[in-house]
Order: sequence, then C-alpha cells, then structure tokens
Amino acid sequence: MLLDTGDRLLPARMLNAFAYCPRLFHLEHVDGLFADNEDTVEGRSVHRAVDEKEDLLPDPPDTAGGDEPLVTARSVTLSSTALQLIAKIDLLEAEGGVATPVDTKKGKAPDVPEGAYEPERVQLCAQGLLLREHGYAAEHGALYYAGSRKRVRVDFDEALVRRTLELTAQALAAAEQENPPPPLADSPKCPRCSLVGICLPDEVNLLRAEDEGQQTEPRRLVPAWDDAVAVYVVGRAFASARAGRRSPPARRAGPSRTCGSRTSPTLRCSAPTRSRPRPCRPSARQRCP
Ligand code: SF4
Repeated sequence: MLLDTGDRLLPARMLNAFAYCPRLFHLEHVDGLFADNEDTVEGRSVHRAVDEKEDLLPDPPDTAGGDEPLVTARSVTLSSTALQLIAKIDLLEAEGGVATPVDTKKGKAPDVPEGAYEPERVQLCAQGLLLREHGYAAEHGALYYAGSRKRVRVDFDEALVRRTLELTAQALAAAEQENPPPPLADSPKCPRCSLVGICLPDEVNLLRAEDEGQQTEPRRLVPAWDDAVAVYVVGRAFASARAGRRSPPARRAGPSRTCGSRTSPTLRCSAPTRSRPRPCRPSARQRCP
C-alpha cells in the first residue's frame, strides 16, 4: 500500500487520480498496481527536467507588502497533518508573502471553460492549501501544459477549495476500503486509462450486469477484424482513393491523368503520368507504377 496510513497523508497526485476515477485511485494507490501507457511515459519524460533538483520552501517574509524580489524554488515537498495532504510542488514562485504553485502537465491545454479539467485543478488547489498552511497567501496557481507551452491560471476560489477538501475526505475514506469501487460505466475515460488492462471495466460491468439478471452488450474497444493490410504508395505527387471516399488531395507535379490500375482490392492508383497513360503492373509488393 503506497498510502501513508500512519499519518493519513494523501498525496495530491492521488487526489488527482481519485477525482479522475475512484477505482483508478484504489487500484493504483491502495493496491499498489501500476501499468504504463503512452500518457504515463510521456508524463514522466516531461517531469524529468522538473524533478532534477529539490528545494526547500523559502521562509515567508514577516510582513507582506514589501519590495521582496521574486523567489523561485523547484520540487518543493510540503505536508500538513491538519489537511491530511502531502504534495510535491513542481515550481514555486513567491513574492512578498504571496506564493503561486505551478504544476507541469504533459499534452495541450484543454479547451474547457475552466481552463483545465477538475483532477488537475483539485491537485493544484491542494498545493495552494498546503502553502497557506505554511504561512503564504496563495490565491491562485498555474498549470503549465508542455504540449502547447501554455500557462493556465487556476483561482483557488471557495467552490474549488470546498471541492478539494470534499474529495480529500472521500479519498481517505476510500483508502480504508478493502475492495476497489466498481468500474465507471461506458466512460470515455477508460480507453485512455493506463490501468484499463487490469481494471477490465467493461468485462467487470458485464459480469455484474449478468449477476443482476440484466442483458447487456459489451462495448467494442478494439476492431472486430484485424485483417486489413497497409498499402505503401511511393513516389512523387501520388494520390490514392478508396472506394467511395477520397483521401486528402496529394500534391500533383504533372498532368492529372490516371492510369486506373487497381493495386489492391480497395485502392486505385492515380499516379500522374508525363506521357500518355500507361497501365500499372502491380508487382507482388503492390508498388505502383
Ligand atoms: S479503466 Fe475506467 S473504471 Fe477502470 S480504473 Fe481506469 S478509468 Fe477507472
């Protein structure tokens, strides 16, 4: 079990997981299960530079409102038994008793009215609450999205603080449970979840429904047939078309006459020809012309 049950401190990143999916939180952070996918590997890569050094929290000034210079610190770990939270702050910017936590995220900033999804906002807010506990004023933080190099401001308003404390209490209570909660039902979060192969959400939900005497159809997450073949079109200014649907137009360098040969059951060659059209003679490798 990764959760520090002695002091009952909940890492802020686990709060992020709980807000995303309570079952993910339990599997990953209570049962200690972990699996990589593209997102987790990319996330580690983005954090490698951030985690290079660890700083201590600078002391807040005795009085606010002076001309204190901006102080920055990286990978600052803070905890509070009163809040039952612990967090590592990627980047801390402090100026005159006011601190701003900055959390680095992989990928692009989402196009949502709040500027960021709830799991990231509550994780950042937990960092802000910890800074307040350590004597700083922290009214907002920032999420830095490495994919779009965009910094999104997140205000620690009353609603977000209340939600953060609420989720913290729920996560701590969930950590005491022996079994994980049931999977999300038909959720778009599951295909991107790194633990989908361990959680088996649709399979578990199917068996649960059958136990309750319900008939249900499992969601198809992978193609029913995998017998499609790749067709490589090599050459200058080629274009290809599929039966009933054209691919985006390719650059054409010569006269737009097509030889019309079929190189595969579904692809028709439309290579531009310099003289009169010559029929293609597709080889065993279906290379044309
Ligand atoms: S696969 Fe879905 S239900 Fe399972 S842990 Fe991930 S998000 Fe939660």
